[in-house]
Amino acid sequence: SNLWQAEGMTREIKVKDIIIGGDEPVFIAGPCAVESKEALMKIAEGAKMAGAQILRGGVYKPRSSVHSFQGLGSAGKDEATEALSWLKEAGERFEMAVMTEVRGESQADLVAEFVDILQVGSRNMYDQDLLATVARKGKPVMYKRHFGASMEEFLSFAEYIAAEGNKDIILCERGIVPVGKGKSFTRYNLDLAAVPIALKETYLPIMVDPSHATGRRDLIYSMSCAAMAAGANGLMVEVHTNPAEALVDASQMITPPELKELIDTCRQINKLV
Ligand code: PEP
Ligand code: MN
Repeated sequence: SNLWQAEGMTREIKVKDIIIGGDEPVFIAGPCAVESKEALMKIAEGAKMAGAQILRGGVYKPRSSVHSFQGLGSAGKDEATEALSWLKEAGERFEMAVMTEVRGESQADLVAEFVDILQVGSRNMYDQDLLATVARKGKPVMYKRHFGASMEEFLSFAEYIAAEGNKDIILCERGIVPVGKGKSFTRYNLDLAAVPIALKETYLPIMVDPSHATGRRDLIYSMSCAAMAAGANGLMVEVHTNPAEALVDASQMITPPELKELIDTCRQINKLV
């Protein structure tokens, strides 16, 4: 399971009828957090119409403060099951694959019953036991780089997933900690060299998350175009039909019409590179 031996081409990861790592870029979109069934359905419909193939939405959120909204799943197993069932239903209704984060090992079984792709968040990149548990569910894993990890650490820890026999790993660059004194003007620094590096050093596809990388909706479009130019296999973009009212990460949400413009342009750029 040596991920470092690039097989000369990127592994194609199949999710329903979607191919990640093929010629066409894949777009994952949705709210930061699943907020209500009604809001999720509206966003899913908008994301689908914009051209996204995969719906995302956090049920268990890794918030910096215990006083912030932790995601509906954190209220208990019944609440988690309900929110996960909305994701599944939205996926069926709008013919999209669905993805959500597994924040802890105890959540893996339940989450895997409802979604097509399991996400490991940035903060858990180094959690070997979580990586093994998630890998053993036998579903593709969206694996996000820690904001303080070198590329060597990121790719090396990805092998804890592959070591369980699951090579369906979608790498995701989501920004690293800003440097120096004073304002960086962005939430993190998007490291776009991660894209060609991952593609050269491994056989895994890599996506870019311009939303968490910048934290700013006004930068999502330009960073998405740049990610495509760098050769990314797709993007994960946070989308909300009413960004100002989003319970989590409101400053980085774009609307479905904005997403459509972004996806249309990114598909054109992908054809050129
Ligand atoms: C997310 O994608 O929902 C998320 C919390 O991002 P990250 O783990 O990269 O901070
Ligand atoms: Mn978010």
